[in-house]
Amino acid sequence: MGAAAKGPGKTMNKVLTLWSNDQINEEETRILRQPCAELPIPLDSEARKCVKTLVDTFLERNDASGLAAPQIGISKKIIIFRNRGFTKDGALDGAWTNRDVEVLINPRLTQQRGNRVILAEGCLSCPDIKVEVARYPEIKVRGFDMHGRKVSRRYEDFIARIVQHEMDHLEGILIVDYHEGDVFVPKKRRGFFDNLFQKNSA
Ligand SMILES: [Zn+2]
Repeated sequence: MGAAAKGPGKTMNKVLTLWSNDQINEEETRILRQPCAELPIPLDSEARKCVKTLVDTFLERNDASGLAAPQIGISKKIIIFRNRGFTKDGALDGAWTNRDVEVLINPRLTQQRGNRVILAEGCLSCPDIKVEVARYPEIKVRGFDMHGRKVSRRYEDFIARIVQHEMDHLEGILIVDYHEGDVFVPKKRRGFFDNLFQKNSA
């Protein structure tokens, strides 16, 4: 999930996007839309390499609150996200460090609670737009940490939103698939996006 944008780092892996400017990226879309495979537990060396690539790529950026492996072309069930440093509605409180990061492997939603809350989300794979998405304010997730140890976690509010957003990526689901609220697009490019969203909802 995107956050306040700043300049990119140096050696980062490219983040795949559904479009660039007014061009649909067919090949990147195919990868982003593909449901991901689970990693083997215990993690083998190949799996560890995938986890490390995602962690390194994420830590090199300062424009993301979360990232899913398929966004960098790895079709495996791994997500990474910041688990601290947000206000309740997702503004940054300026307290991010590289330690406030969490990895989940093969995450599985085991509980959703409360009334879903609508908030506009951005996504590095859907550049230049925001889409209102309704998400549960409290979830429980089972999965494995970056070392392949079994974990069971509970998330609330904005962190719960990030985790739901990143878990969507593992199923090939993106914010453009939600039609419950408004879509915010740059005025100048309304034509391109009107066309795109019509095709999506057809
Ligand atoms: Zn995203």
